Amino acid sequence: DVLIRLENVTKQYGGTEEPAVNNLTLEVLRGEVLVLVGPSGCGKSTTLRLINRLIEPSSGKLFLDGEDVTSINPSLLRRKIGYVIQQVGLFPHRTIAENIATVPKLLGWDKKKIDERVDELLEVVSMDPKTYRERYPKELSGGQAQRVGVARALAADPDVLLMDEPFGAIDPITRDRLQNEFLRLQQDLKKTIVFVTHDIDEAIKMGNRIAILREGSEIAQLDTPEAILAD
Ligand code: ADP
Ligand code: ADP
Repeated sequence: DVLIRLENVTKQYGGTEEPAVNNLTLEVLRGEVLVLVGPSGCGKSTTLRLINRLIEPSSGKLFLDGEDVTSINPSLLRRKIGYVIQQVGLFPHRTIAENIATVPKLLGWDKKKIDERVDELLEVVSMDPKTYRERYPKELSGGQAQRVGVARALAADPDVLLMDEPFGAIDPITRDRLQNEFLRLQQDLKKTIVFVTHDIDEAIKMGNRIAILREGSEIAQLDTPEAILAD
């Protein structure tokens, strides 16, 4: 069951010679973690930004659940797709609770429902709501900030999570713990996840399937971690 489909997608940024993404065709199956792995600059981040329409393709088409993404209302798309990036991008002048509530607020949820959801999500990412709700991002460690980033992305219960090196800027021990926690969480969530990393070990650990990309987003191999390890 295909949830996301990219069909011959090309993205050429202005003022560059080579397209960042070149004629990419890719399917993401419902409920899987598909990892895009490859060297810096091969178009991984661009691919995620195309999926959630932060940028438009130069050519080609993208489908979410069979629907052309250009025909989906942008606020509906924000609800259906959660996005986690490496440097979290928490709003510094908003509390942790307000940060997590960003999308629910945009969607007009009432205050009680938002408060309950924030507490629930902090529990999900193993942070005590009483301790952390009213804190500010600068009072968090890198690992905690990344947990809040995951909580914020999950707030409106999206179908899809796009994760761009979510644990990339974290020390190795905390990263390992976050990876394990996230894998456990995913067993319940069963979200459709596109996970970007340049680290093949992380790809093998996190992915149900792995797409190994070369320059210009060319797919060198697309297979299960077991099959890739066997090569
Ligand atoms: P990756 O995530 O694999 O590191 P990116 O998608 O960030 O790759 O970048 C792919 C290519 O597109 C790189 O050559 C990068 O320099 C270029 N690029 C990315 N974003 C922009 C942009 N906003 N404007 C121009 N070029 C960009
Ligand atoms: P990542 O690989 O995680 O996307 P980058 O350092 O490539 O991180 O990009 C960080 C930001 O800079 C992104 O918003 C991207 O669009 C922009 N960017 C990357 N490469 C270029 C470029 N060659 N020209 C303009 N903007 C770029």
